[in-house]
Amino acid sequence: MRKTIFAAALMFVAAGCSQNPEKALDNKVEETLSKMTLDEKIAVVHAQSKFSSPGVPRLGIPELWCDDGPHGVRPETLWDSFSAAGWTNDSCTAYPSLTCLAATWDTDLAFEYGKSVGEEARYRKKNVLLGPGINICRTPLCGRNFEYMGEDPLLAGCIAAQYVKGIQSNKVAACVKHFALNNQEFQRHGINVHLSERALREIYLPAFKTVVQEGGVWSIMSSYNRFEGEYASHNSRLLNDILKKEWGFDGAVISDWGAVHDTEGAAHGGLDLEFGTYTDGVELDVANVYDKYYLAEPYKRKILAGELPEDELDEKVRRDLRLNFRTEQDGYHGSFATPEHFALTRRIGADGIVLLKNNGVLPLRGDAKKIVVLGENAIRPMVVGGSSSSLKTHHETLPLDGIRIAFPEAEVVYKRAYYSGAATSGKYAYSRYDITDDRTPEAFLDEVIPALDGADYVIFVGGLNKNKSQDCESHDRKTYDMPGGQNEIIEKLAGIRPDLIYVNISGSPVAMPFSDKVAAIVQGWYLGSETGNALADVLTGKVNPSGKLPVTFPVALEDGPVKTERQYPGIQDENGLWQVYYDEGIYVGYRWYDSKNVEPLFPFGFGLSYTTFDYGEASARVSGGKLKVSVQVRNSGDVAGAEVVQLYVSSPADGEGPAFERPEQELKGFRKVFLAPGETARVTMDVPVSSLGYYNEERAAFITVKGNYTARIGASSRDIRAQLPFKIK
Ligand code: BGC
Repeated sequence: MRKTIFAAALMFVAAGCSQNPEKALDNKVEETLSKMTLDEKIAVVHAQSKFSSPGVPRLGIPELWCDDGPHGVRPETLWDSFSAAGWTNDSCTAYPSLTCLAATWDTDLAFEYGKSVGEEARYRKKNVLLGPGINICRTPLCGRNFEYMGEDPLLAGCIAAQYVKGIQSNKVAACVKHFALNNQEFQRHGINVHLSERALREIYLPAFKTVVQEGGVWSIMSSYNRFEGEYASHNSRLLNDILKKEWGFDGAVISDWGAVHDTEGAAHGGLDLEFGTYTDGVELDVANVYDKYYLAEPYKRKILAGELPEDELDEKVRRDLRLNFRTEQDGYHGSFATPEHFALTRRIGADGIVLLKNNGVLPLRGDAKKIVVLGENAIRPMVVGGSSSSLKTHHETLPLDGIRIAFPEAEVVYKRAYYSGAATSGKYAYSRYDITDDRTPEAFLDEVIPALDGADYVIFVGGLNKNKSQDCESHDRKTYDMPGGQNEIIEKLAGIRPDLIYVNISGSPVAMPFSDKVAAIVQGWYLGSETGNALADVLTGKVNPSGKLPVTFPVALEDGPVKTERQYPGIQDENGLWQVYYDEGIYVGYRWYDSKNVEPLFPFGFGLSYTTFDYGEASARVSGGKLKVSVQVRNSGDVAGAEVVQLYVSSPADGEGPAFERPEQELKGFRKVFLAPGETARVTMDVPVSSLGYYNEERAAFITVKGNYTARIGASSRDIRAQLPFKIK
């Protein structure tokens, strides 16, 4: 009773005396803006160092500090360079790659990830963490797939929105990147993307819209590439019309580092804050280079000459001040590299690992006497590398360490088995192992084969490695194969030990021509500080795997939708400009494989468990503008586990021809449920009917057509357990 009265009194105070926070923020912004001189306004729309902008010292408005992102807080750099400052107190928690997070299909965990990395950013006094990246995986060759969230806009949007909310709960802004159409690294600074409006609206924009409208993100990073002939960072249609007007984004658009090319473009195009520009005729890293930025002195001169309007500048300042105030330091300091953060990173890692094949060899028995661990990736640090997402971490438990810790009594023998090249980005590298070893494949095998004698288990840890062209920014992969001749070696070893367990470390799909020869395949992504422990948790069954692929693994690259040079990597026009054509339209990822009846190696949404789930009675009906789907799921095995229940919808076409056709099926909902052995749960999903539409180019709108649909409920895109017809009238 007393509690109720107290609450009522508080509510009265709140209603009577406080101001709506958004209104208060706007008032503060307007008041500050009204006091600012032209020079002060110009100062806040461009950088003052590699990662900061200056604030307004005269008005007590502090600097704005950004840092990468997205898998942890990058080490401090020198004032005017990307090089490490050499601090010794900036070794962070390295969290799993975003692909791994997407593979958890767990929106609560995504919030926890964001909250935790946001605590670290806050502790390091950052206002903005540069991430998450949510560009759709269009080709497995894209060098940055590992920093993104897979091939489906619904999954990427839902996971990213929660990650954003988590970060921002610390008063640290997320900066969702790279807006938009940065789906390849090859020629990323200028490639001009051509695609249908429908593909833009259905595939490449929805995840961004979700982070704006559901995630409430405070900043967005514009990408390097061009779209419709205009740089994305100057692209008024993308930034002003779609992002700000159509979606109501009220935050700041920050340029990617060096993505601004001229003053008019940046002034009119909807950009609010310029970072990383390498200016014309000025050497990199000389004094005052920041004053030469396109939104610095050149901008001021044009405003003073009446060539550019000051109210456009004011609008940028408003948005930058809003970002500054939203992330103001207020006595809360976050936390850094704590045991809780490492525990969380281990949990996310284990929950995102995907068990792709298991003939029963996994989980490993606890009484194993001898385990042979093979492969360079068992000892190769992976937190470092990949370019801007590279981190310096407090510790990195390697796969071999994790297995040794999990089997303290067993003899764990390590042999390298292959060599894929020295680290190409080693600024913060540390390793207890010398990873340089250029023996021939024959020499490696000669060493490995005798070591296999008497082994209870043989585990090969291979894959990519974040070197250039191996899951790395700026460098797309050159082939779908893994480096170092791994295919041949694994195949030979599987011939000797058919019970071989293959652990794949990569952020992108890779070819696995040996897949039917090995006994188990585990997709291990990049798991950060606790890699070895997270892997061991799944291998031993301490954690029952529940990750599902956020991206299709095709058998061969040629099976995918990208077939021609003009589709990828693009072609040069007569002026030498690179043009890329997304001729596959909306047929990206499983939308392609399912619609064209191409069997992938491992389908979207796929992942095994150490238990089994039975799907029971299911229903689908439309009511109150919603498709309401419900299904009974039972854990029919004898260990606890989690299942990701997926809802795909197959929709009728709206007419003849490609403009009206629909993919075979599209993900429209998902839910992760945790079940004890024998436990049953009813899983329900409500999907707005409006989200079942397709983009009609003539009407410039999403249209949900009347007709017969099918709700497909399944354990993956290719493991549909219930097909339920429903009608939209
Ligand atoms: C990358 C961004 C990154 C920025 C700052 C750019 O090259 O594309 O993702 O946030 O650098 O390091």
